[in-house]
Amino acid sequence: MSYQKSETYKTETTNGLAELYRGAISLLGEDATREGLQKTPERVAKAMQYMTQGYHMDARAILGSARFREPYSEMVIVKDIELYSMCEHHLLPFFGKAHIAYIPNGWITGLSKLARVVDCYARRLQVQERMTHQILDVIQETLNPLGVAVVIEAKHLCMMMRGVSKQNSITTTSAFSGQFEAQETRAEFLKLITADLH
Ligand SMILES: [Zn+2]
Repeated sequence: MSYQKSETYKTETTNGLAELYRGAISLLGEDATREGLQKTPERVAKAMQYMTQGYHMDARAILGSARFREPYSEMVIVKDIELYSMCEHHLLPFFGKAHIAYIPNGWITGLSKLARVVDCYARRLQVQERMTHQILDVIQETLNPLGVAVVIEAKHLCMMMRGVSKQNSITTTSAFSGQFEAQETRAEFLKLITADLH
């Protein structure tokens, strides 16, 4: 996804946020008027709007716009979908990869749409566990497949930069529905994605 052009930002939102960030910079002990920081509040205001643009995206519409009739009923897997989100407890990024699979039941979707669905939920204030289920639920509800599997592995800057400082820990979450609740199908999916898990 290309960077959003400045004219698509809401001026009122940008100005309001910039004002608040200017105050935050001062409270943190900096001189918000010094040269290097003069335009920072406005930049942060725009960056934050970009990183939370998922609130203005509709995952159902994304999947619904690309539903195709197809008798294919083998597992469809999209691995290693890049993911950038923001922890709602600290407003710090977490980032990693999503792996999604579904077993069609007469309907398939464009593979790129699954990546857009991930963006739709990632670009919000999130917790990884909830996002995992939101992605599963919208695929289940929109495509009505025989099953859905979602695995997300991510590093959380709030764990790496502060507090416990667990530099290398990766949080893995997963959610399964339908046929993926069966041990054998789930195992096949996990085997197919595990080659790239690290
Ligand atoms: Zn956090």
